[in-house]
Amino acid sequence: MDQVIAFTVVEVHLSPWEAHVARALLESEGIRAYLGSEHVVAAWWPMSLGFGGVRLLVRREHADQAHAVLNLRDRGELEAALIEAYPPDVVQCSHCGSGQFVECRSWPAISLAFMLLFVGRAIFPPAKDFRCQSCGQLR
Ligand SMILES: [Zn+2]
Repeated sequence: MDQVIAFTVVEVHLSPWEAHVARALLESEGIRAYLGSEHVVAAWWPMSLGFGGVRLLVRREHADQAHAVLNLRDRGELEAALIEAYPPDVVQCSHCGSGQFVECRSWPAISLAFMLLFVGRAIFPPAKDFRCQSCGQLR
């Protein structure tokens, strides 16, 4: 006896990576999800829009539940719950307690970056330290 399983498209993404993140979100909530046209888009991503994008598919009976989860994501409620559960580290100046810092780069690193500019590609040096905007104290 043949069983027909009907799927419905709950979202369309232009990149397979975004679609995988959305699929992983649904699967983390217990909703089995699949991607359609993922490999075609990955093989020729500039034509993603022409191919109709990567389709995020769920079983038809799970569509309402999937839309509810995706709406929570779109409203930012999932991100807010994540920040509440894992609050970001608050960095404060050890001297004055300020939380505002500016990036500091060393002059040898900057001069090396300018030399690399003339040699080939310039990779600007990442900040090695942070300076307090209020009092100038290095973190
Ligand atoms: Zn300070």
